[in-house]
Amino acid sequence: MPTNAALFDSARAIIPGGVDSPVRAFGSVGGTPRFIVSASGARVRDAEGAELVDLVGSWGPALLGHAHPEVVAAVQEAAARGLSFGAPTQGETLLAQEVARRVPAVQKVRFVSTGTEATMTAVRLARGATGRDLVVKFAGCYHGHSDGLLAEAGSGVATGGLPGSAGVPQAVAAQTIVLPYNDVEALRACFQARGEQIAAVICEGAAANMGVVPPARGFNAEIRRITAEHGALMILDEVLTGFRVGPAGWWGLEAVEGWSIEAPTAAHRWPASTQEAAWVPDLLTFGKVVGGGMPLAAVGGRAEIMDLLAPLGPVYQAGTLSGHPLATAAGLATLQLADDAVYAAVESASQQIASTVSQALSAQGVEHRVQWAGSLFSIMFGAGTAAGVADYEAARAQETWRHAPFFHAFLEGGVALPPSVFEAWFVSAAHGPAELEVIAAAAPKAARAAAQ
Ligand code: PLP
Repeated sequence: MPTNAALFDSARAIIPGGVDSPVRAFGSVGGTPRFIVSASGARVRDAEGAELVDLVGSWGPALLGHAHPEVVAAVQEAAARGLSFGAPTQGETLLAQEVARRVPAVQKVRFVSTGTEATMTAVRLARGATGRDLVVKFAGCYHGHSDGLLAEAGSGVATGGLPGSAGVPQAVAAQTIVLPYNDVEALRACFQARGEQIAAVICEGAAANMGVVPPARGFNAEIRRITAEHGALMILDEVLTGFRVGPAGWWGLEAVEGWSIEAPTAAHRWPASTQEAAWVPDLLTFGKVVGGGMPLAAVGGRAEIMDLLAPLGPVYQAGTLSGHPLATAAGLATLQLADDAVYAAVESASQQIASTVSQALSAQGVEHRVQWAGSLFSIMFGAGTAAGVADYEAARAQETWRHAPFFHAFLEGGVALPPSVFEAWFVSAAHGPAELEVIAAAAPKAARAAAQ
């Protein structure tokens, strides 16, 4: 079997950067990415046979852990009946019903293949519904790689230290207004100045693509209030948070259960209707967990807006592989398995992992802060983070350089962290005592590396 380095060399010769998504290339941490050959539960195995405790979780989908036997069986059963048909299948309806059952803010759903398509479609719908062009997003939030949403984006754009992307026409970029996250005053001022031109505000449920930066108390509710007042739509991007932080995603956690930074625990209610919610977005986008590890994402929301989509309405959207039968099978199996016990397991494992790592860092005198949004967390470095990181400027001002040695020491100790300080750590229900032991054994050395 070729080494990771040999595989990376071959890949780089034919694939730009050797990867199909930039952060995978280890650009900000250096070294050679591990080429994964298999994954099961909380572990991945690389081309050299090394087994790693995985905290990347396919960047979010692996809520149950990798290759859950019931999810794999559902995909195998679907595959045996044919791979794709370009015609409707019952699996799409069943998954749509499950999404709406969990998230009553969703009255209708359209499935696409990626989170990028979901947010792109949501923005187009908002423009179609309002007849307006401008879209407001927040610096450090990532909504996929469509032209209009890359400005000051988080995730790989933040990791690469980029302001946006080349190739985005100026005229397109000019339709996006970027505001600081968690800044209600900036939002109010923006709407006062240009409210009549704004089609939508798009925000992550909780920002988790500049590291985890939870919304300040009342921030999302205020977005809802201001957009409604000005006839604009609110798009809650739950591609990352949806079905991960709780059964009804971030919306369920915050608007229904009353999550706030001050009281970050919740009991997970399964809302039966929007009446239970303090605020309701017009549109929501989902990805990652909803596809159970297969290429599937969704846009959903109020029926009268969703029905503007073709073939009923004038807003065009389509996809050869949309609502793919294997992906809907994986998504449905995953959501059916994601019960209260799964969310409790993810929360408990996240808390244990974060506290083990945090204690190791403190023991080495490394100033840091664990930032939480439900069960999602990331570690930010430096004394400047002590009072909390509330926006992209503060997230970028941390001691980002500590992440690379920290990351590599963990990797040597058998633990795969996200290869960027700007990403959340993805824990699954399969992370148990054995994985915690590996993490605890690797943490002191990683903390020492971060201290240097
Ligand atoms: N929106 C959010 C909040 C995300 O975190 C991501 C991906 O990380 C996307 C959208 C884009 O999803 P995809 O990578 O499936 O296109």
